[in-house]
Amino acid sequence: MSTHYDVIIIGLGAMGSTAAYQLAKKGQRVLGLEQYGPAHDLGSSHGGSRIIRQSYFEDPAYVPLLLRAYELWNEIERESGQEILTVTGGLMMGPPDSLTVSGSIESSKQWNLAYEILEAKDIYKRFPAFTPSPATVALYEERAGFVRPEASVYTHLLQAEKYGAELHFFEEVVSWEAHPSGEGVRVITANGVYEAGKIIISAGAWAPDLLRDLGVSLQVERHVQMFFEPTQGIDIFSVGKQPIYIWEADDYVQLYGFPSFGLKAEGAKVAFFRKGTACTPETIDRNIYEDEVNMMRHYLAQGIPQLNGRFLQGKTCMYTNTPDEHFVISLHPEYPQVAIAAGFSGHGFKFASVVGEILADLVIEGKTNHPIDLFTPQRFAANKIV
Ligand SMILES: Cc1cc2nc3c(=O)[nH]c(=O)nc-3n(C[C@H](O)[C@H](O)[C@H](O)COP(=O)(O)OP(=O)(O)OC[C@H]3O[C@@H](n4cnc5c(N)ncnc54)[C@H](O)[C@@H]3O)c2cc1C
Repeated sequence: MSTHYDVIIIGLGAMGSTAAYQLAKKGQRVLGLEQYGPAHDLGSSHGGSRIIRQSYFEDPAYVPLLLRAYELWNEIERESGQEILTVTGGLMMGPPDSLTVSGSIESSKQWNLAYEILEAKDIYKRFPAFTPSPATVALYEERAGFVRPEASVYTHLLQAEKYGAELHFFEEVVSWEAHPSGEGVRVITANGVYEAGKIIISAGAWAPDLLRDLGVSLQVERHVQMFFEPTQGIDIFSVGKQPIYIWEADDYVQLYGFPSFGLKAEGAKVAFFRKGTACTPETIDRNIYEDEVNMMRHYLAQGIPQLNGRFLQGKTCMYTNTPDEHFVISLHPEYPQVAIAAGFSGHGFKFASVVGEILADLVIEGKTNHPIDLFTPQRFAANKIV
């Protein structure tokens, strides 16, 4: 053992990469440990695109974090010269009483965000890829768009290295120990033992193993990102014409999608939100089945018929869900030298830039000014029947 680090980061995906960047930039001696290569496709941060939006139907408490996230996405783009955030506009569509519509309106009102409400016929007129049922309405948000997960992870890691971070790939962490005094940690990998003042555990779908003693249920789910070829040309699905969208169908099943971009440029990506199957990183079935493609076709035929063409590709990805689908971002309740970023429940990527800043605050200052009360692991302990 030679170097003593200020911070060791376990897992260099969406959240670990931004934390490495923020901490190295602030002069901390950082060691990042990742079991796979940089920006790999075996976790939760791949597939070319992730929705970003501000009128957040999940809870208005996320909005201030989103405003800061946008600033930080712009900052890393300026610093690196790499495009990561693309603004396309966004439609949150569904029955008026759906969470997608009513929750988005609530967040927008509470935070004074600009938005428009479109009736079904206006949606079709402006965005002719959609054929919504007459009962459908949409909130249109101009600032919504997508971020590029692989580019984000890769760029943050490169910038972290520039600021002096030491990053080890293909080195799996086997276990970690925090000194009961509240000072110091040891991290054990297949290659050695490392010591540091603090650690960050940002292990995505592998967190349930590393955080067994946290008392938070983290359930991993398999999800599929699907790429279809449009039946009448790509033009109306192109960036600039087609916005990102979240569509809650008349049966309240939520789907979301993107303009044509990235992985399969001759097609566009669409997926179900929160309709996954339980798995672990070891047991996930990476095959794609005809019945799941047909299930998607059933919805495309109703609401986005021109996307119901040739199936181009399906790519599995994992959600790590908490019981209330809100994140866990906090210092460890028992060990103040351990910071946790876990349970991003299928909607974390857009926040990665600000989560890095929050983790750096927690590690350096022991607290943050960002509003993260919603994300405390103790919210689950408080509900326990003793
Ligand atoms: C299909 C799909 C669609 C999504 N769509 C959106 C969207 O539109 N918008 C949005 O905001 N969010 C979206 N999300 C959610 C978002 O992508 C995730 O919340 C986010 O990527 C989680 O980041 P993470 O850092 O926790 O996990 P990851 O990025 O997976 O990083 C965890 C890392 O830790 C490493 N690791 C784990 N254990 C160890 C160990 N023991 N030793 C060393 N390394 C280890 C892993 O290899 C991995 O690289 C989507 C997710 C999926 C799957």
